[in-house]
Amino acid sequence: MIIVMKPKAKQESIERVKSIIEENGLLTHISAGHEVTIIGVIGDKTKLKEQNLAIYDEVDKIVDVTESYKLANKKFHPEPTIVYVGNVAIGGDTTVVMSGPCAVENRQQLLATAYAIKKAGAHILRGGVYKPRTSPYSFQGLEEKGLSYMKEAKEATGLPVVCEVTSLEAIESAVKYVDMLQIGARNMQNFYLLKEAGKTGLPVLLKRGLSATIDEWLNAAEYIISAGNPNVVLCERGIRTFETATRNTLDISSVPVIKTKSHLPIIVDPSHATGVRDYVKSLSQAAVAAGADGLMIETHPDPSIALSDGPQSLSFDQFEDLMGALRPLVALLGKKM
Ligand code: PEP
Ligand code: MN
Repeated sequence: MIIVMKPKAKQESIERVKSIIEENGLLTHISAGHEVTIIGVIGDKTKLKEQNLAIYDEVDKIVDVTESYKLANKKFHPEPTIVYVGNVAIGGDTTVVMSGPCAVENRQQLLATAYAIKKAGAHILRGGVYKPRTSPYSFQGLEEKGLSYMKEAKEATGLPVVCEVTSLEAIESAVKYVDMLQIGARNMQNFYLLKEAGKTGLPVLLKRGLSATIDEWLNAAEYIISAGNPNVVLCERGIRTFETATRNTLDISSVPVIKTKSHLPIIVDPSHATGVRDYVKSLSQAAVAAGADGLMIETHPDPSIALSDGPQSLSFDQFEDLMGALRPLVALLGKKM
């Protein structure tokens, strides 16, 4: 439930309502807007049944929040959240592009990619070093060595870096090197990992699970936020459907749905959504037009020899072409890139 205070309610009224809730063993979350303060109530609200909060000064209305996620809910926090990754703001007026190889393969490959994507106008470098591969015989990633290359690429280009983490050990290593942790689709409901990522305080890129509903995805975000970390960016990366022409089906409708239900930024990954590089440009445009706060695009110096996800990776020329195609669209939407 949320308690909406009257416009310009006095601080002492807000404090009084907050302490009544807390005295009943519940948690509060304050969202102070320009005019109106909203007090979110977390916990078993039946404990408040003896208390008629409506009688207190300056309470405007009490609204039930039926969704199980609260801190990720727009009703608790009507203003959009902006997440800072290094000095890059996600969720504001800039369409943020993250790009890089599926897997960090060697120092040369990563540095070449970092320079190329920076030149084309990307904001954040991605690169996997703990790869959740379908087959145990596929390339599994360079682990800590790869993290050191990511850090070197960051220092060389100034681009903040994001890496997927798949275990507690991976988190413990990654926090020493990266600006943002990625929780991949396969781990979206690894609740232990979500809580551990939450405890780090680093921004978290939370990919949608292969078969997760939007509700389950927002509950996964709730695990991170409730561990004390509000810096969550959602990433739509396609879901399993009956269609086989593409690797997954990009659920473009998740963008406006998330914008309606949550204050968290959302980006779209058309590379994993389609698995086919020829479809990446048009779906990037569709995502931006639908209101996505950014994109994640896989790139490789030579996709034909990539150790992972070559068929969906763009060459540097193709990436530059994509960025050029996005610019007028982003400008038309009144945003920056
Ligand atoms: C990735 O981004 O490298 C990745 C494995 O993506 P997903 O978790 O969406 O499959
Ligand atoms: Mn990949």
